[in-house]
Formats: sequence, C-alpha cells, structure tokens
Amino acid sequence: MHGQAENRDMATVGLQSIAKSFGATKVLGGVDLSIADGEFLTLVGPSGCGKSTLIRIIAGLETQDSGSVAIGGLGVDHMRPHERRVAMVFQSYALYPHMSVRSNIAVPLTMSRMTMRQRLPLVRLMSRSRREIMRGIDADVAAVAAQLQLEHLLDRRPAQLSGGQRQRVALGRAMVRNPDVFLMDEPLSNLDAKLRVHMRTELAELHKRLGVTFIYVTHDQIEAMTMSDRVAMMDAGEILQLGKPSELYDLPASIKVAQFIGSPA
Ligand code: ADP
Ligand code: MG
Repeated sequence: MHGQAENRDMATVGLQSIAKSFGATKVLGGVDLSIADGEFLTLVGPSGCGKSTLIRIIAGLETQDSGSVAIGGLGVDHMRPHERRVAMVFQSYALYPHMSVRSNIAVPLTMSRMTMRQRLPLVRLMSRSRREIMRGIDADVAAVAAQLQLEHLLDRRPAQLSGGQRQRVALGRAMVRNPDVFLMDEPLSNLDAKLRVHMRTELAELHKRLGVTFIYVTHDQIEAMTMSDRVAMMDAGEILQLGKPSELYDLPASIKVAQFIGSPA
C-alpha cells in the first residue's frame, strides 16, 4: 500500500518531534502530528499542558528547541510568521479601538503594503497605483465581510459591537489574508455561554464553506468533541490520544483521556 507516503503528501501541517522548554520547565516533549488538508483538528487538554505553545510554534510566534514544522510540504522553520500562509485568531481579539471594523479587517493588507513599500522602493514604483491598491483592499474586505455577515457594521468601532461581532471581525482579519491554515487559540473563551454555543456552529459552518485547514485550541472538551474532524488530547506536553471525537469517547486510550473527555466509566 502507498498509505504512508500519500498521507504525508496530503498533510497541510506536519510536526516532527517538537520539543520546547521555558528555562527548566519542559513544556513540549517531542510532539509528532500530521494534519490533513482541509481538516478541522482540535488540540484539547487542561490549562498549562502546552496547547498555546504548540500552536504558536506552528504560527512562527515561538521557536521550538528541536524538531521541525512543515506547512504545505515545505519546511518553515526559518520562515517568519507572515511568510507561513497561516493566520492566527486570538482569544483576546486584539482589535484596534480607534479604527473602524473595515480598517480592522484590512490591517494585514495595509500592514504588508507598508512593509513592502519600506523594504522595496523599486517595487513601489513598478506596482499598481495607490488608488488601485486601495480598491483591491476594499473589495477583499467587502468579500470577507459578506462571508461573516458584517457588511452593515463596517463603519462601526469595536466598542459598538457585541462580543460575537467582535469575534467575527477578528476572524475577518484572519480570512482577508486568504491563509491555507487558520490557527485559533481559544477564540470563544471571552464569550458568554450562550454565544459560545452559537459560535461553535458558526465556526463549523465557516470551516465547511472555506474548505481550508483549521487548527483549534481549547480546554473545553465539548467544543472539541462537537466541532472537530479529529481531536488531539494533550497532557503535560504530550499527545495522549489522536482520533475522531467518537474514537476518543468510545475507546479512550487511558483513564486520563476518559476522565477529561467524560466517557462513561
Ligand atoms: P496551555 O495553552 O495549554 O494552557 P501554554 O502553552 O500556554 O499552555 O503553557 C504551557 C506551560 O508553559 C505553562 O506551564 C506555562 O506557564 C509555560 N509558559 C508558556 N509560555 C511561557 C513563557 N513565555 N515563559 C515561561 N513559561 C511559559
Ligand atoms: Mg493557552
């Protein structure tokens, strides 16, 4: 069979023996994980088990001590965050309070334009006119806003939005970059319980619509079990079990997994 090689080709994100310590504290103990193209994979586990550190290493916001990260079959260990074709959605939305929803969504586009202008004056001379670029950005923002039902809110400031709307703006900022992989670190944990349940459905639907890879971090086992194609249950810097939600529930690999997931004893 050609299963192994084929699986590797299909992987959007491949983690090989990722290890990380902060000082004397070992946070990740050599994590291996292969995530398929278009998959919704959730890292779940108790607080402090290393979920955020792992997703930040994938994003390039943190550097592993050893091991390697591949995205789309390409080693990215030496790439900076913005070169990795990933977009991160944070728990605290990190929206700019003084800017409109429109400008907040456009941040990655306007930022990269600025960086390009600063770094490569020649490219600026040769590139499209400023007005053309601005029109392109407006069109991209409008497309994203339509996907997230934010069209009517584009001129508002973050303070004039509900928690769920703010979370959608943060998602829009990630979407506008058109990434291959969305990385989400507890994106719903600031929302009240009712909205959190509603947003689970919205995220699952968004994932279906976009058809791209989602890597989702949560300490909430119900979130993990309801939204994901596969779940990686972590504890103390290791993956204890990786499988479909039903597999973890029906066949927990250890008592720890069973207790966390809430499988029947
Ligand atoms: P989780 O997201 O699962 O709650 P984290 O990845 O945030 O876990 O943290 C794992 C461990 O690493 C915790 O013990 C945390 O205190 C520690 N840690 C995380 N980031 C840092 C850092 N920048 N400096 C020192 N310790 C850190
Ligand atoms: Mg965390």
